[in-house]
Amino acid sequence: MSPFTFQPIGTIRSCFTEKFGIPRQPGLVPEARAFLEIVPPFDKAEAFRGLEAFSHVWLIFVFHQCLAHPWKATVRPPRLGGNRRVGVFASRSGFRPNAIGQSAVRLLGIERKKGTLRLDLGGIDLLDGTPVLDLKPYLPYADAIPDATAGYAPEAPANLKPVVFAAPAEQACQSADPEAYPNLKILITGLLAQDPRPAYKDGDGRKSYGMRLWDLNVRFSLGSTHIIVETIERPGRQCL
Ligand code: SAH
Repeated sequence: MSPFTFQPIGTIRSCFTEKFGIPRQPGLVPEARAFLEIVPPFDKAEAFRGLEAFSHVWLIFVFHQCLAHPWKATVRPPRLGGNRRVGVFASRSGFRPNAIGQSAVRLLGIERKKGTLRLDLGGIDLLDGTPVLDLKPYLPYADAIPDATAGYAPEAPANLKPVVFAAPAEQACQSADPEAYPNLKILITGLLAQDPRPAYKDGDGRKSYGMRLWDLNVRFSLGSTHIIVETIERPGRQCL
């Protein structure tokens, strides 16, 4: 029985065209930007009146790429190395009975472009195409709880290693169209410093990894002290 039907108010348009590399929570990589495109009939300017005065908003969204998977009572959060289980309700995993997520993100602007009302957002952790069910202003006096404790995830993950760019990757960043790929170098640096590799990384024996951003393939490897961005390529094209 399904007593509720929710209609998305909009869709996320982000650089994250696949899950690998997406920050594991909002706010970790401020350069991770997205637009939330509002769909009719919710795209009325008056529905957003007053929102521009808030620095952050809550997004309530559907983990749409988790919908095909049945939920399980326990999950293995990356924060526990991917090998210890906690209850699904003690996690922020998308694989839950109702695949609903929430993220507090920075609101950078509200604009109408070519007839589409869209919100410019920063510090996101969402796939391109994510359906958004609701949007609410973030209220620091109620939502920020300075003395809260947080079990197995007491603090933001420590950054792993510095990120360096090999010559071909550096060259690609220099020549990339800044409209199509804004802040590309800073974005890649912020994402890789978070170490997007799966939690079983230490034993997987691989040296080279690929991350997809927009239509770009970003290849990187692990040096002893650095993460090295090797190449940034646009399949089928000579240059960015
Ligand atoms: N802040 C949210 C999401 C945390 S999990 C919450 O706590 O509810 C964040 C991870 O969800 C990302 O790293 C990405 O791997 C995954 N993800 C993001 N958007 C998704 C989507 N639309 N469907 C499935 N998984 C998604």
